[in-house]
Amino acid sequence: MQKFTLEFLLIIFFFSPFTSCKNDSNINLKEKPLKKEIPFALVIHGGAGTIKKEYMTDEQEKAYRDKLQEALDVGYTILKNGGTAIEAVQKTVNIMEDSPLFNAGKGAVFNSLGKQEMDASIMDGKTLNAGAVAGVSLIRNPINAALLVKDSTRHIMLSGKGAEEFARQYHLQFEDASYFYTEKRYKSLIKVKEKAGEKILFKIKPKKGSEQIDEHKLGTVGCVAIDKEKNIAAGTSTGGMTNKKFGRIGDSPIIGAGTYANNLTCGVSATGTGEYFIRTLAAHEVSNLIQYKNLSLKKALKHVVHVEIDSLGGDGGLIGLDKNGNIAWDFNTSGMYRAYKKSTGENVIEIYKK
Ligand code: ASP
Repeated sequence: MQKFTLEFLLIIFFFSPFTSCKNDSNINLKEKPLKKEIPFALVIHGGAGTIKKEYMTDEQEKAYRDKLQEALDVGYTILKNGGTAIEAVQKTVNIMEDSPLFNAGKGAVFNSLGKQEMDASIMDGKTLNAGAVAGVSLIRNPINAALLVKDSTRHIMLSGKGAEEFARQYHLQFEDASYFYTEKRYKSLIKVKEKAGEKILFKIKPKKGSEQIDEHKLGTVGCVAIDKEKNIAAGTSTGGMTNKKFGRIGDSPIIGAGTYANNLTCGVSATGTGEYFIRTLAAHEVSNLIQYKNLSLKKALKHVVHVEIDSLGGDGGLIGLDKNGNIAWDFNTSGMYRAYKKSTGENVIEIYKK
């Protein structure tokens, strides 16, 4: 009986998968079967405006492309590692806020009094919860303050001194006014004022440097992401418009105008002359056209930019990402800094009108 059991066990062992594949060159136990990547994606913009190849040096173009790629890669890595769309949007926008190339955070444009007042917002498409700040001057990353408003208050938007006080209570990073200064934004302000025949009633000590004047590049930043759980988030951060009136608030911190996200439809971030995006509630309009008119994301963006914004005489563009991970963008200016990266490996960066 005992001998039988031993023989029986030996036979089982011999034919078991652990032993039988030892000599099978087609099966390698160490290699796990290839898992299909759960889809995720993100799309970003760095502002729309008069952005033409002939106005750019190769070095400038490379600098923009490199920074857009860096921002994309940060968001992509978060999403790949299972992070949330909200986190990907925040951290991706942070890269662009920290770069003087864009009109957000460092490099924000000056208002008519020679000051920087920044706006930002972020929205979670799963809960439809959102946060925004408007008219903040010294918060290094306004999108972080917007996220804090979303997560730590029962409000959607805080403005000016109140928003800054709130951010201080939560120990967000602050900078001196000189951190946000860039010579190109200062020169843009002077140029716009001279063109308008306005007197310059303030004095900013210009820093040394030889950056190009770019009064027609608007430079707001935005990001829309979809994570592995199929949650969509969108965020936008800006210094607003050069020479804007003191206290002016644009579309970027207004949920539905400059930023919108809804898991049922899509996420959208806008850039351009904000007043037109507020009047058309551009970002929400895209979502509505998808939800109630069954338009594709591409068609919805096209309608809002080329029919609604155009007919009011507005300028700018939109980026979007729908619930199926489709990505689209549209604009009516000569260029828009824009890029996307998908889990499929697609990685696209574009600047000029095609
Ligand atoms: N939309 C922003 C604003 O009006 C500016 C921009 O996108 O360039 O404040």
